[in-house]
Amino acid sequence: MPELPEVETTRRGIEPHILKHGVAGVVVRNAQLRWPVPETIHSIVGDHIAAVKRRGKYLLLGMTQGTVIMHLGMSGSLRVCGKAEPYRKHDHFICCFETGKSLRFHDPRRFGAILWTTEEPYEHPLLAELGPEPLSAKFHAEYLYRVTRNRRMPIKSFIMNSHVVVGVGNIYANEALFMASIRPGRAAGRLTKAESEQFVGAIKRVLKKAIQEGGTTLRDFLNAEGNPGYFVQSLQVYGRDGAPCQQCHRPIKRKMIAQRASYYCPACQT
Ligand SMILES: [Zn+2]
Repeated sequence: MPELPEVETTRRGIEPHILKHGVAGVVVRNAQLRWPVPETIHSIVGDHIAAVKRRGKYLLLGMTQGTVIMHLGMSGSLRVCGKAEPYRKHDHFICCFETGKSLRFHDPRRFGAILWTTEEPYEHPLLAELGPEPLSAKFHAEYLYRVTRNRRMPIKSFIMNSHVVVGVGNIYANEALFMASIRPGRAAGRLTKAESEQFVGAIKRVLKKAIQEGGTTLRDFLNAEGNPGYFVQSLQVYGRDGAPCQQCHRPIKRKMIAQRASYYCPACQT
């Protein structure tokens, strides 16, 4: 599933190809995505891309008349293609530019979304309730310490809730907890101030590293140039059950927490 680093990598990948470019046409080959692609999406024809932004895992194509809100869902990807390139089977939405290039939304499982709003995009029901961006100054140790008080939910499930902070998916939650020496099943309310600081720092580091390396994923994600954005070899615990911990060489354990696979070192994480 594309996580925040893949979405940010996609944003950076497509931006130079589409920013300031005029939209010559729109092709909706299959409107049945997570929500139907609205008819009003055609109102972007004749407009131009004024900004390419991201909020959580949503991509926002800012036009002068409104905003296209995109989500890659479980298996979505975006590519910039030339005119002559034939459509692929799951290319559901195509935005054609006056330059002859096009932006193609490909999504075999169709859990992604293409929406259009003329209102303030950050006030859209999908975005309005989102927690702070993990790489912004609004996500800091005091904030995490405050919101975790009296919460008995496992810290790993807590941090994956997008109302708390956006974009900390399963892989990054596992990796950041290892870096901060915190067990995934620990009650959120039992984090100390020092641990909140370590955990926030670890989340920022692991996400920045993933963005730098082009995004981690297990399958389906293609970066804007069409190459898989894998860098699974640099993961320290995720998917490594039974393999030696890179710090103490004891075997990494796997445990299900809230139906999500969780990996940790029983010696290094407490
Ligand atoms: Zn260890």
